[in-house]
Amino acid sequence: MSILKLHDLYFKPFIKKDEINAIVKYLAEQVKDDLPKDEVPIFVGILNGCFLFAADFIREFNGNCEVSFVKLASYQGTSTTDTVKHLVGINEDLTGRTVIILEDIIDTGNTLQEIYNIFKNLDVKKLKIVSLFFKPDVFRKELPIDYIGKSIEDKFIVGYGLDYNGIGRNYPEIYQLTPKPKMKNIVLFGPPGAGKGTQANFLKEMYNLVHISTGDVFRFNIKNATELGLLAKKYMDEGDLVPDEVTINMLKAEVEKNADANGFIFDGFPRTQSQADALDAFLGDKGEQINAMIALEVPEDVLVTRLLERGKTSGRTDDTDESKIRNRFNEYNTKTAILKDYFDAQNKYYGIDGVGSIEDITKRIAEVFDTL
Ligand code: AMP
Repeated sequence: MSILKLHDLYFKPFIKKDEINAIVKYLAEQVKDDLPKDEVPIFVGILNGCFLFAADFIREFNGNCEVSFVKLASYQGTSTTDTVKHLVGINEDLTGRTVIILEDIIDTGNTLQEIYNIFKNLDVKKLKIVSLFFKPDVFRKELPIDYIGKSIEDKFIVGYGLDYNGIGRNYPEIYQLTPKPKMKNIVLFGPPGAGKGTQANFLKEMYNLVHISTGDVFRFNIKNATELGLLAKKYMDEGDLVPDEVTINMLKAEVEKNADANGFIFDGFPRTQSQADALDAFLGDKGEQINAMIALEVPEDVLVTRLLERGKTSGRTDDTDESKIRNRFNEYNTKTAILKDYFDAQNKYYGIDGVGSIEDITKRIAEVFDTL
């Protein structure tokens, strides 16, 4: 999940699919448990926003039921209006029936008021209200709501059936309105020896970014014999990846140290799918995102020569032994290279020819960065 842009506004990830599924299941079970054993209720969904919730709820409802819909509208843009328009009404005979309303969200209660008005003359046996979301801070009515999935603060949300001016309904998760992202963040990507560190040093000056190289942070910790350094050393010496949890926590701490940055160059991170997921979630919480993965593409034989050359002066033990170098490529090919597809699928992958003079390669990267 990453930042969404719908029309002129930005939305950040708010409630994940798993959480939504669990809430929906729980609501369906509660409703079922409270009904008399052989009661066949009629569920009435309030369109349009309820369509995904109603579909999932009804699938989770373990028993016979009927389904109908009414269509009401009270929203314009991101603010609720006082007049609720009737677009499609009820056409079943509901006399003596147990009617269960399925609403996606209740905020001021205007729509709810309208629902009570519609049903009060229909002679139903029972009327129950189920709302997936509820905004207690803005609710202005004295009307009962029988089942609430989750109470949330008064911020505009989209996804899982809810829209902003018509779009956004199709996302399986819920997103929350957020200010326009302030940062430009890139992942500088490529196998060991591709020139990520060298290029990052130019780019951070050109664009006033903060460069975080997880390899450098580990080496700093090893030099200072910290606990983290001692732990990382045994993996790094072999050319193995340091465990995700350790690396992710370290990366987060580095980002937090520079909370006011214009943006970050992530160099050597993420290196696994779970690191990529963690980075997305972490930035998403802040209303920020990865804008691009810029990948330096260099053939492997050129890389080995470069690394052995670097090893003569870098003092890096993982640069001097060809078998350790091969192991780093192996780690890259089996765990890291897949991230290309991950960013590609989001239209965020930019491959750059990483062979040539340092200056030329910087220019190639800058051309991409300037389009972001
Ligand atoms: P680098 O300086 O990026 O080539 O990284 C050197 C070594 O540090 C790697 O071979 C790993 O042992 C460790 N390392 C650096 N970044 C990560 C990461 N994101 N995940 C796991 N291990 C890492």
